[in-house]
Amino acid sequence: MTKALLISFMIILTVGCVPLRSYVSTGNPATEPEVEKVSRPQEEKVTNLIRVAVVVCHPSIELMVPDQFDLIGISSSNSQIIYKDGKKFFQFDVTIHDLENSAAFIKPQGEGEISVDGNHYKGAIELVQDHKGCLTVINELSLEEYVMGVLAGEIPGNWPMEALKAQAIAARTFAIYKQDQAKKKKETYDIENTALAQMYIGSRLVNQNIRQAVMDTEGEILTYRDEPIMAVFHSNCGGETTGAVDVWGQNQPYLRPVFCSFGNQGPHYKWNETLKVSDIVRRLRAANISIYDIVQISSIEKNEGHRVTKLVLMDADGSKKRIKGAVFRMAVGPDVIRSTCFEAHLKGDSIEFTGLGWGHGVGLCQEGAYGMAKEGYSAFDILRHYYYGVILDKIKTE
Ligand SMILES: [Zn+2]
Repeated sequence: MTKALLISFMIILTVGCVPLRSYVSTGNPATEPEVEKVSRPQEEKVTNLIRVAVVVCHPSIELMVPDQFDLIGISSSNSQIIYKDGKKFFQFDVTIHDLENSAAFIKPQGEGEISVDGNHYKGAIELVQDHKGCLTVINELSLEEYVMGVLAGEIPGNWPMEALKAQAIAARTFAIYKQDQAKKKKETYDIENTALAQMYIGSRLVNQNIRQAVMDTEGEILTYRDEPIMAVFHSNCGGETTGAVDVWGQNQPYLRPVFCSFGNQGPHYKWNETLKVSDIVRRLRAANISIYDIVQISSIEKNEGHRVTKLVLMDADGSKKRIKGAVFRMAVGPDVIRSTCFEAHLKGDSIEFTGLGWGHGVGLCQEGAYGMAKEGYSAFDILRHYYYGVILDKIKTE
């Protein structure tokens, strides 16, 4: 065991903190992607590792480790032996009190996988006690295995190959972008496995198609001015993507609005939701937006893509609260208010929402990528449609 434990305080990562660059709005988004043959970069072997926080601040976890493993930081007497499918495993129930020196590191010998709370992970697992006194679990594995787990978490493995490859390149690029940020800040881990970053569910659901898409694009990333891009993506744009400024307050030149009719048949193209006013008020108050009632709701500002950038809520006493559309969406719940492209109507004690798209609407539209691949576009055609002016590049090894 040569692995040194890295123990430091943890800061939760979120998407959207990027250096400011000037944004040039075309005001005239491209209607259809250009189609052009693109040659792939020269093959070159890369062996990058990534550190993914798969559990953040839990009081305890359950680990299941294959028969042969290296372990430091936890007494193996804490474990019990169990047999599953004829194989021997060691099961640990771990709390922070079980960690020697507030950290532990476990790595299977050979190809075995470690299970954490029922999810299976390739590579090694590191446990650290964070500054809140709770347990954070970091999965350290090869970048390519990680990208496979992201594809499995983000889109169905039976999608067309070019859509899977586009998602693989976007996910790998985003991971490298986050890793660069984390290294600069000396974070304990590179990225989280949440919808705020990108969904990573370990090796479960990784099928042959996903494996193929990742291997065919191994080490490939998108760059703009020689830097990995913030390759954000979302489920469905609702007909047009949006710039980053309405979501995260600052823009990137490669994240411009583009029209996208390719996802109009997608399952997440349209949505509607009816919520009790009292329920919305409760959710807003939980997000520190002080309001007691909503007697009127109106959008006062929409962008060119018809997304609500600002709305006004009138309280019972006639006072008005102005809220950014993206803030309202996150406060009420991004799975309830699926996008900021919506209309809202107050009816009795409820508000009816009807909207288009699912997700923040910035960057690659996953269901649009599916539609483009179905129409015969290549992975890079798809990526170039959603990320303006990018280049297909290879990860630079240090
Ligand atoms: Zn779309």
